[in-house]
Amino acid sequence: MKSRTKVVVIGGGIAGCSTLYHLTQEGWSDVVLVERNELTSGTTWHSAAQVTNFGMNQTMVGLKTHSINLYKNLSENPEYPINYHHADGGIRLANTEAQMQGYRHFASMARGMGVEFEVIDAEECARRHPLISTTNLLGGLWDPLDGDIDPAQLCQALAYHARKAGAEVYRNTPVTALSQHKDDTWTVHTEQGDIDCDIVVNACGYRVNEVGAMMGVHHPVASMEHQYFLTEDIPGIAEAGHRMPLLRCQISDYYSRQEKGGLLVGFYEQDCKPWGMDGIDPNFVNALCPDDLDRVMDVLEGAFERMPALRETGIRSVVNGPITYTIDGAPLVGPIPSKRNAFCIIGLRAGLGEGGGHGWLLAQQIVHGEAFYDTWCLDPRRFTGHANVELTSLKAIEDYQNEFRFHFPHEHRPAGRPAKTTPLTPILAAEGAEFTVVNGWERVDYIKPSPDFHPSLTFNFDEAFNVVASEVKNVQENVGLCEVNGFNRLEITGPDRHSFLYRLFCGNVTRRSGRVGLGYLLNHQGMIKGEATIANIPASDRGPDRVWYGSAAASEYHDMDWLSQHLRADEDVQIRSMTNDQTILVLAGPNARNVLSACARGDWSKEAFPWLSVRETFIGFAPATVMGISFSGEHAYEIHVPNASLYAAYLTLRSAGERHGLKLFGARAVESMRMEKGFLHWKADLLTEFDPFETALDRFVNLDKGQFVGKDALLKRKASGPKRSLVTLKIDAIHAPAHGGASLMEGDTVVGTITSGDWGHRVGMNLAYAFVTPELTSPGTTMNLDMCGDMVAAEVIPFSPYDPDFSLMRS
Ligand SMILES: Cc1cc2nc3c(=O)[nH]c(=O)nc-3n(C[C@H](O)[C@H](O)[C@H](O)COP(=O)(O)OP(=O)(O)OC[C@H]3O[C@@H](n4cnc5c(N)ncnc54)[C@H](O)[C@@H]3O)c2cc1C
Repeated sequence: MKSRTKVVVIGGGIAGCSTLYHLTQEGWSDVVLVERNELTSGTTWHSAAQVTNFGMNQTMVGLKTHSINLYKNLSENPEYPINYHHADGGIRLANTEAQMQGYRHFASMARGMGVEFEVIDAEECARRHPLISTTNLLGGLWDPLDGDIDPAQLCQALAYHARKAGAEVYRNTPVTALSQHKDDTWTVHTEQGDIDCDIVVNACGYRVNEVGAMMGVHHPVASMEHQYFLTEDIPGIAEAGHRMPLLRCQISDYYSRQEKGGLLVGFYEQDCKPWGMDGIDPNFVNALCPDDLDRVMDVLEGAFERMPALRETGIRSVVNGPITYTIDGAPLVGPIPSKRNAFCIIGLRAGLGEGGGHGWLLAQQIVHGEAFYDTWCLDPRRFTGHANVELTSLKAIEDYQNEFRFHFPHEHRPAGRPAKTTPLTPILAAEGAEFTVVNGWERVDYIKPSPDFHPSLTFNFDEAFNVVASEVKNVQENVGLCEVNGFNRLEITGPDRHSFLYRLFCGNVTRRSGRVGLGYLLNHQGMIKGEATIANIPASDRGPDRVWYGSAAASEYHDMDWLSQHLRADEDVQIRSMTNDQTILVLAGPNARNVLSACARGDWSKEAFPWLSVRETFIGFAPATVMGISFSGEHAYEIHVPNASLYAAYLTLRSAGERHGLKLFGARAVESMRMEKGFLHWKADLLTEFDPFETALDRFVNLDKGQFVGKDALLKRKASGPKRSLVTLKIDAIHAPAHGGASLMEGDTVVGTITSGDWGHRVGMNLAYAFVTPELTSPGTTMNLDMCGDMVAAEVIPFSPYDPDFSLMRS
């Protein structure tokens, strides 16, 4: 066994084997995999091993396409052949029009990744899968490339090719401890000896938290028991003369695929069971949980009704094994929060279908620092302080019970709520607030007109449309108050804080005391990494001269990691998170200055407190820090208040606002207004797949300043010109917004992808942002949007259709 290597991957299931293989593909051969038993002895060996292409976003579709292509190539390689039933096809069933509309959206989204799904009616479903009945069926989504693979052969093949490229695999080598050294390298302690390495990867399946504990972290991953059975031969299959497609049923929560002459049928029963919460028997190896078919009877009945032949068929064997879940159902693939040189590929619940792609994207992150696609939907740092195993287990149950029921726009399921609240949450609830969830925070979406107001789940505009319209109107005509909780706030102090930020931002960042600025951070490839406001707060009895760095709620761990990783040993800078201690109250509208003046002493005139100023003050007697910035485009203030005084500040503002028409507004109104202003959202519109020029942020880049992170790469990109460019579109439809991921078409060619869309209530337009091919960026250019299967016209319009010269914000 080697005593030193570059990377140690811990765990020899599909996650570990795929990572090892792809590290060698990215050019690193001095890499090692250690496995406590034999390869695939965790969950992988007994997987149903279906390989599908469906995903809820383009990154998922892209990485699954990578799996499919990889598995096909491996299966055709005579050196280590594997059994792969490629392209049996698969159908996801639906029995409501809303589900069918969702499928049409996912088909539009997948088209942008070169994947052609088809939405078919019930008769066509039955023609392609002759065992199913069309009772209570509207149709389904056809996925032509679905299939299944032999999971053990796949892992052995990946290990074989990795070994051939120089990697080593040590079986029967349990990792017992991990130590990290001052230079951020690691020693992996195993029962067979120690291995020093630069980087460790946790790929330990359901034992993820045993290895997590060895490095002092607690991963939000929980396991569920999951069962399938294999049937005797079914005559209808032989008679069909072709292999049966896969089936996934969101009407009755089961799936099936062909296995020899019969079927494999798996269940997501409502009466489901978490597993391993109180620890896992060390001898649970190549093992299964006891069969418990009684538990799946509710779901089994649905499968019988859809496939009557099943009733007549005997069961050959049952498999019940642990399967891992995270808080949002997607795995955790990427850097481990707050650790250096440590990565994970965990929480895989469809690891055979996805594992090829996850290992690919992880290896790229390890070797190059960033992956081919924006991987935020997989990033382990997308969950923050609330993400413990107890909460994950509640979300795992909910997710398991809804396995095939995709989330609709604005849908936030109830398990594990409320996770993060402020002192105002119950007060706002009593005011009628409907809450959305942002990184665990309960944030006001809008104020309900009545307690029993429950808009439908739909891809169209829902019944809250007019409610949002009236909130926007009040902000535009009077003044609105909105709580923005969980906004990431880092306090940066120390004499080198400005030079440190200068190195990280691609443009000019204000150093002037009492001033606020907006800037962008790039990665080492010159692509958009982050967006932050920088507020320079003068010294006072509340603290020394300091910078408040503010960014999106979900970016808390991500940004903290990025900043601290780029801090040099010789720089005197301290960074402290204030995210959980402070909340923002946004006061927006033409009467905002009157309200603020009525409850905070001092001169708030345009001359004394111009746009982009910051000042410490009191709202009544509640200490607060006020910034003159606006996301709505109206004259507005962000009032930052310590949580202990939040209720006091709120009462004062409400009371002062009474005579100025102050009403509450929520996140949906904010979304509509920011679209009208050309403001972008991190990880919706600001992605690592595009540079700042492609993202229409030229005014925030200064190539004449000194060196900054990503500058060299950005210069090269600039010289080669944009691949895609961000534009604002006016969509010719009044029934639905453009949804993120939807494809823009010219004839049969995909020419762009929507990132955000919403109705602009002040301009009366259906607005969207999209990345389009560079020749389509001139205002007036038209193309078609594939909006859930309907082609509607989309016209490029200038950015910021509301108040384009920003005069209201500056007023
Ligand atoms: C019944 C069932 C059906 C399924 N069907 C499908 C399907 O159809 N399609 C699909 O895509 N997915 C399916 N899945 C899910 C899929 O099987 C898993 O997502 C996948 O196998 C997880 O792989 P993994 O590598 O993350 O974990 P594992 O396979 O569990 O591998 C983890 C490895 O880490 C090793 N390890 C743990 N601790 C240590 C240590 N201290 N030192 C060294 N090694 C260690 C373990 O021994 C193990 O080999 C199914 C799961 C179940 C239970």
